[in-house]
Amino acid sequence: MSSTDIFQNETIKEILEHYRVIWALGHASSLMGWDSETYMPKQAYMDRGTASSELSVLSRKLLLDENFLAKLDKAKDMMDDLNEYERGVVRVLDRAVKIYRALPEDLIREMAIAREEARVHWVQARYKSDFNIFKPYLERNINLSRKAAEYLGYEEDRYDALLDLFEEGLTYRKAKSILDQVASQVKPIFEKVYNEELFPSKHTLEDVKYDIEAMKKVNKEVLDLLNYPWERARLDVSAHPFTTGISLDDVRITTRYEGYDFRRTLYSVLHEYGHALYDLQIDPNFKYTPLEGGASLGIHESQSRFWENIIGRSREFTSILKPILDKHLDFTAKYDEEELYKYFNIVRPTFIRVDSDQLTYDFHIILRFRMEHMFINGELTVDDAPETWNNMMEEFLGIRPKKDSEGILQDIHWSIGLMGYFPTYTLGNILSAQISRVLEKELGKISNLILEKRFTDIQEFLKEKIHRYGGMYKPEELIRKATGEGINPSYYIEYLRNKFLSP
Ligand code: MG
Repeated sequence: MSSTDIFQNETIKEILEHYRVIWALGHASSLMGWDSETYMPKQAYMDRGTASSELSVLSRKLLLDENFLAKLDKAKDMMDDLNEYERGVVRVLDRAVKIYRALPEDLIREMAIAREEARVHWVQARYKSDFNIFKPYLERNINLSRKAAEYLGYEEDRYDALLDLFEEGLTYRKAKSILDQVASQVKPIFEKVYNEELFPSKHTLEDVKYDIEAMKKVNKEVLDLLNYPWERARLDVSAHPFTTGISLDDVRITTRYEGYDFRRTLYSVLHEYGHALYDLQIDPNFKYTPLEGGASLGIHESQSRFWENIIGRSREFTSILKPILDKHLDFTAKYDEEELYKYFNIVRPTFIRVDSDQLTYDFHIILRFRMEHMFINGELTVDDAPETWNNMMEEFLGIRPKKDSEGILQDIHWSIGLMGYFPTYTLGNILSAQISRVLEKELGKISNLILEKRFTDIQEFLKEKIHRYGGMYKPEELIRKATGEGINPSYYIEYLRNKFLSP
């Protein structure tokens, strides 16, 4: 099938023709975003911020063009005559239009500029571990998010409007119920594992320095093992690892090289690989259409968590990694597979979210979720925020940050206006286990699939169940289609219990 077969309705064809320009602007913005995190000279941030905000204003204008909206309305009136792909196009565009219509142009411009400024001051504040440098910018971002939530509208809770931006259909009530379940059931697992040292709380390999060029070879070979298509994808270096799908044939991931504790760069590559694979396996017929992206951030994160943790941090994957590590690094040979497995699965409370293990990670998310909810509802001021953060850290993980760089200043999200984003990380963890269960039902034990290096089979499964659909379905609908039920944290909790309590 080609895209001309998929999209046959004349109105949809006209809509897609108009959309190509919007797609092109998005393409340019993604590339600019990638550049500003990788190779852009520092001083260019104001110019880049201005250019990005102008492009997003232009994109909004094109989306809200009267002719275009009339066509979209026409398509909405004949949904029953459209095929599933065409309905997906209408659904995604209609949602975007609703969001853009709700937010005034001035506010969008103001938010874009506020983000660039806040980001720069956040970098400085974190470097000096001085929250006061960031405080006024955080306050402005919170106020802008609250304003945006009011314009977007909500039924129960102001925070719902923001959650929905990142995970369509997610509400505070729903997220709270899911996160509370995870918190209450993972806490005793974590405490048992940590107190009885079922997994180590530290490892000598953490301090071992590696040669960066050698490590680059490891990362490349691991990506080769997973069939990373270099002709359609890249791996670069950035301060914070990320993935960007610039187009269906241009997907880019990054990692960082600290020079010691090699699991950090390795697992960030596996994580971003999972994101990249999703983008790379979307139906090629969706090229230049609004269906090009994934279904949601939560589902996207489930794919990265799947490769990073369920595959990557398994005993079986460790045995496959071992010869690759021994070939390029001169210090791994003296550690056997079991020791490497333990090193990859150190369990201990940490201040920094991105350094945390599978048993503590979700507490970092729950903390941020609670704080965001309070910020947005005016129950927490920026003045009290660092103290609130530290108190919750102590409550959840029994450790208290001594400086704000290891507390409230650690994440980029709030500086760039991402409020409501964090819960999607835990949704991703939950979904990664829920999807794995279906995979095991259909293909057999994951441990065997890994040992037999049947990565192509795993990739095909993910493509068939999730990836190929792109943005066609609402996240909830896609989860149901793929797993036969709505999001259910019990598989994730069971997975953690099995993995960590019977080491
Ligand atoms: Mg991710």
